Amino acid sequence: MIIIMEKTATQDNIQAVMNILKEHGFRAILHEGAVHTVIDALGDKTSLSPDRLDAMEGVSHVKLIREPYRMASRDRKPEDTVIEFDNGVKIGGANRPVFMVGPCSVEDDYEGLLQVALAAKEMGCQFLRGGAFKPRTSPYDFDGLGEKALKYLAKAKEETGLLVVTELMDSSDLDLVCEYADVIQIGARNMQNFRLLKSVGKCSKPVVLKRGPASTIKEFLLAAEHIMYNGNEKVILCERGIKGFDSSYTRNVLDISAIPVIKKYSHLPVIVDPSHGTGQRYLIEPMAKAGLVAGADGVMVEVHHNPAQALSDGKQSLSIPQFKEVFTKLNSIIDVLHLEKSMSLPTVE
Ligand code: PEP
Ligand code: MN
Repeated sequence: MIIIMEKTATQDNIQAVMNILKEHGFRAILHEGAVHTVIDALGDKTSLSPDRLDAMEGVSHVKLIREPYRMASRDRKPEDTVIEFDNGVKIGGANRPVFMVGPCSVEDDYEGLLQVALAAKEMGCQFLRGGAFKPRTSPYDFDGLGEKALKYLAKAKEETGLLVVTELMDSSDLDLVCEYADVIQIGARNMQNFRLLKSVGKCSKPVVLKRGPASTIKEFLLAAEHIMYNGNEKVILCERGIKGFDSSYTRNVLDISAIPVIKKYSHLPVIVDPSHGTGQRYLIEPMAKAGLVAGADGVMVEVHHNPAQALSDGKQSLSIPQFKEVFTKLNSIIDVLHLEKSMSLPTVE
C-alpha cells in the first residue's frame, strides 16, 4: 500500500507513520515530493490495517496497490519516470524518443565499430549499443570479446560522446561492466535471472531490461520490480518480441500492444527493439515506426558496418547507409508525434 500524507503533514507526522510501519515489519520507502510526501509500504497488510494508518495525524489517504508489482506500478507513481544522464539526455516522459544503435556484438574491428558510432552521432542518436558478453543459443557461436569489447566501446564513446549500452550476463562481471557502461542491459534470456536482477538492483547505473521471449507482461514488470526493490529505480523496459508459432517469416512476434499496456500500468520508460523483435532487416523500419506511434520512449536497432560478415545477427542488422535512410524517416515521424505530444500533454512537473 501507499500512504499519501497531507500537504500540511509535519516531520513528526511522517516519522510516526514510518515508525508504525517498521514496528509491523514493513519496509517503508519515503518519497518527499514537491507537494505531497508519499510512503511506500511493502509488507503484509494483515498485520497492520490500512484503516489504522488512514486515521493517523497528517495522513491524507491510503491507497492499496492492485497489481503484484508495486514500485513499478503507476498506482504508486502516476507521473512518468524520466531517467536523466549527465550529458542531459533523458529517457521517458514526454521527451523526444532516444535511439540506441550499434552492432549485436562488438567485434575485433575497432574501425568498424567507430564507423557505426560516427554515423549514429551524425544522425543525432544518443547511445551506442554493442555486446561484449553475448548469450548465444549454440556454444559454438561467437560469444563476445569480453573486456576488449568494453574498451572498444569506451574508446568510441570518447571519440563521439555517445553513451554506452552493453549487456551483463553474470553478476561477477558487474564491476567491470559498470566501469565502462552508461546503461547496463539485461538480455531477454536473463529476464528472470533473479540473482542477476538483484545485483543490478544494487548498482546505480540505469538498466535496460529486455522482455523474456516467453514472458507475460506481468512477469516482465515483476522482473523490473526485483531491480527496483533492490534499490535501483532506473529501469527502462525493452519490448523485443516474444515466441510465436510462425518462425518462417519472423524470428519473434513483436508485441506492439505491450507498449501502451505497460504505459497504462507502469510509470517506467519503454523502448522497442525491432531487430530482435522481427529478425528481419526489412521489418525494422515499419516496426520501429509502429513502436513510436504506440508510445515508445526509444528504439534499439542493430547496425553493422558490414552485416553480411557480422559474427552475430547480421540478418537483422542494418548497414550504415540503410540505417541513415531508416533513421531519417523515423525522425520525421517523431517530429509529428512530438509536436502532438507537446501540444496536447500538460507539462510534467
Ligand atoms: C542483443 O541485444 O543483442 C540481444 C542478445 O538481445 P535479446 O536479449 O533481446 O535477445
Ligand atoms: Mn543481437
